[in-house]
Parts: sequence; C-alpha cells; structure tokens
Amino acid sequence: MKYGILGDVHANLSALRAVLDRFKTHRVDRILSVGDVVGYGAAPSECIAILRELGARVVKGNHDAACVNEMDLAYFNAYARTAVTWTRTQLSREDCTWLARLPLTLDLEDCSVAHGTYHRPERFDYVQGESDAEASLDRLPTPVCFVGHSHVPIALVRLEDDPLRTARAEGSDFDLAEVHRALINVGSVGQPRDDDPRAAYGIFDVEEQRVVIERVRYDIEVEARRIRAAGLPPVLADRLYHGV
Ligand code: ZN
Repeated sequence: MKYGILGDVHANLSALRAVLDRFKTHRVDRILSVGDVVGYGAAPSECIAILRELGARVVKGNHDAACVNEMDLAYFNAYARTAVTWTRTQLSREDCTWLARLPLTLDLEDCSVAHGTYHRPERFDYVQGESDAEASLDRLPTPVCFVGHSHVPIALVRLEDDPLRTARAEGSDFDLAEVHRALINVGSVGQPRDDDPRAAYGIFDVEEQRVVIERVRYDIEVEARRIRAAGLPPVLADRLYHGV
C-alpha cells in the first residue's frame, strides 16, 4: 500500500496538478490530504473538484472552516481574511457542503491525519517543535500521523527503544521501522513557507515502512497571474516565487 499525502493546497491548481502527476509516477493507491484545500489561491472550486473526483480522504483545515463560516475571521491576518471573503463568493453550494462535512481527523489502518494537532484538532494549533507534538503523540492510535498547517515540513518521532522521548528527525526520508510514533508535516502544495517555492508532498510506503517528503516544480507564473486577475492581494502571488 502506498499513500500520497498532500495538503495546504490553498486553491493553487497548477501546484496540485504537478503533485498529482508525481503521485501517478509513484503509483500511489490512496490520496490523503491534511486540509486547507482553499484560501489564498484563485482556483478553489477546481481544486475541490479534483480531490473529490480522485476520492481523496481529506481533513478540514482552518481556511476550509473559515470559508464555510465555521471560524471567526479575527484569527486571520488581513490577506488571509480578504482571500477567505473572496473564496466564499466562488464556492458552489455543493463545494460548501463538501467542505463543511470534512472531518477534523482521520484514523485509517496505517496512519492518522489532522490539520494542526491530532489531540485538539479544532484549535488548529501549529506543530513547530517537539513540545507541540507531545500531546498528539500520546493520543495517536496509529504509528504515524500526517499534519499540515505551518506549511513547513517537519518530522517529530518517538523511537521504539525510547518511546517517552520526542525528537526531531532530520532530512526528508524517514524510516519508520524503529519508530514507535511519528508526527509528520508533509509541507504545503500551494504555498510553501520554507524558502523553497516548489510544491511539497509526502509518499508513505507501508510495506517499506518509509515516508519521503519530496518537492516538485510547477508553473508559478500561471498561478500568480490567476491570483492577480482575481483581484486578490498581489502579495499572495508574489510570495509563491520565494516560498515564504
Ligand atoms: Zn494552510
């Protein structure tokens, strides 16, 4: 079984397509998403349609929740707020129903999925270091949970021979054979913020017990133009070139 894991697409159609092409090359069996399908980018309905069509299992992100009026916009910065307000005008009733019905977490046979933390998903807290991961790792019913939200890839693990100590795993290729529990942020498809503008995603090979975070280039110019043409804040287009 091979999972393709993607998230924080943020309505970036070209980046989503580039990642899905990579999933085809990898012959993934199932697609999982850590949420935030919409918000920031200018192709929300298109991205929803593609993920629905592919039968992806998706959890709800804070932008997804905000776009269907489930979250107070006071939590968002001005650009995000403008994007949410614009996105609401673009979504069909069917899109809204789909977003509203997304679960906050998923527990599958081989892994779990959440947007922020696993233990308190409705708070949409960020996982940026060991201490942010502890409570989620304590509660995980599966060996590995994939998350998003910060748009920065990170892996926090507890090893079998030292299951009470949480440590950050370096690199982008993770061997889960010796791992007791892991929380892995697969990075962002549509708006990376780790100074690398390429779209990020993860491949989880269950037989090999291995997770690899990869990057793929996409046509940023097309998406930047789409954002500007929609009248969204130009900074949302500009930041794509820098991965910030
Ligand atoms: Zn996001």
